[in-house]
Amino acid sequence: MLQARNHPSSPRRGAGDGTLAKRPFRVHTVQHLDRIDELQGLSEAERFDMRVVASVLPFRVNDYVIGSLIDWDNIPNDPIYQLVFPQRGMLSDETYARMAQLHREGASPEAIRALAAELREGLNPHPAGQLDLNTPEHDGEPLPGLQHKYRETVLFFPASGQTCHSYCTFCFRWAQFIGDKALRIASSDAARLHDYLRAHPEVSDLLITGGDPMVMKTRKLAEYLEPLLEPGMEHVQSLRMGTKALTFWPYRFVTDDDADALLRQFEKLVAAGRHVTVMAHFNHWRELETDIAHEAIRRIRATGAEIRSQGPLLRHINDNADDWARLWREQVRLGVIPYYMFVERDTGARHYFEVPLARAWTIYRDAMQQVSGLARTARGPSMSAGPGKVEIQGVTEIHGEKVFVLRFLQGRNPDWVQRPFFARYDEQATWLDQLKPAFGESEFFFEAEYRAMQSR
Ligand SMILES: *Cc1c(COP(=O)(O)O)cnc(C)c1O
Ligand code: SF4
Repeated sequence: MLQARNHPSSPRRGAGDGTLAKRPFRVHTVQHLDRIDELQGLSEAERFDMRVVASVLPFRVNDYVIGSLIDWDNIPNDPIYQLVFPQRGMLSDETYARMAQLHREGASPEAIRALAAELREGLNPHPAGQLDLNTPEHDGEPLPGLQHKYRETVLFFPASGQTCHSYCTFCFRWAQFIGDKALRIASSDAARLHDYLRAHPEVSDLLITGGDPMVMKTRKLAEYLEPLLEPGMEHVQSLRMGTKALTFWPYRFVTDDDADALLRQFEKLVAAGRHVTVMAHFNHWRELETDIAHEAIRRIRATGAEIRSQGPLLRHINDNADDWARLWREQVRLGVIPYYMFVERDTGARHYFEVPLARAWTIYRDAMQQVSGLARTARGPSMSAGPGKVEIQGVTEIHGEKVFVLRFLQGRNPDWVQRPFFARYDEQATWLDQLKPAFGESEFFFEAEYRAMQSR
């Protein structure tokens, strides 16, 4: 299907929606809920709920997502609507009640902000030891805006990339968007990034992430990328850019003023022998249906860069095998390489989105069984936990005990990678910390070493 989705009821549909014509980027936040025409069909109570939830969780949506990706005949169940629009159930009853009370009283914006800050503290804003365990040092100084958790790969969070073209309601990076400096991990310091990379020849991959680095102007991005072509940087072979722009704003690669400059930058890196890959965040095949998304993918691939896809498994959005199989098949057709299926992280609105590990694995397996080998490159379901990325390989029975078979895809200690280990089967468990070792063992093989790392 090459046409944009048909939304007979969507007032904004028309020339420019999902087509290749250039269009302005118009974005709405919690202050602008009332100017989104499509929401006028909601009841007063529903719009109140949305305002309450959006004052705690990040909310931001643009006209392309509203007009071309959401099927307004199918709300609230539409997966893209769930992906971007806050829902009552995303907050616990208690959290909701406290914030709703302030709104009913007509509290000041300051009071609402203060309560929001308090409530967010209870939502595990930095899961998996992001702040304390992953921040590296250089010349005895901590380097904020960098994470170096796995030997080969450095993550860089450029300060000007700490936002996205829209926000996902389940975002695990949400602490970075809410303006609280203490919760922010970001850096504007290109020189310190490059010093660090020069001093670390074991690093083969740089992953520029966010937020979304594609919100940055090409000129700004070039400040980070160009020095990677200088002598002394040859070891940084793979340059990855984490982005959801192919979903939220594919115009970034097609009609934005510096779209061509961005593609020329990719070409230059490729010509210099680097592997350039766009790590595209996708949740649903519906994100891949518009002409503009197809054109963006085509143009990126024409530069010699690859596109790999990753995204979490989410209740209310994509918790069934058929949608994953269709997503992966569609990606392979368009030349996008399926890479990771993640387990929803233990942060933010997780209780709304989480899927038990046992069910996650069943969905993964059933999806895999529907696709050819070219789409079976997606590993998972994988938990990005404190000790590493842990994949659920399967459920089986060993000597009468039902177990999960697990392995590290990435480990804080590289020696943990690819070692199978076993947990007691638990139908309800949704995260690694809820699993117990199988066969009556007292702890998993990596735990003592991980504890020692944490107390260092
Ligand atoms: C996933 C991840 C990486 C990259 O891991 P790959 O398996 O190489 O894709 C790097 N750093 C962190 C912190 C990660 O979570
Ligand atoms: S694209 Fe990524 S960083 Fe941005 S809101 Fe979604 S999950 Fe968060």
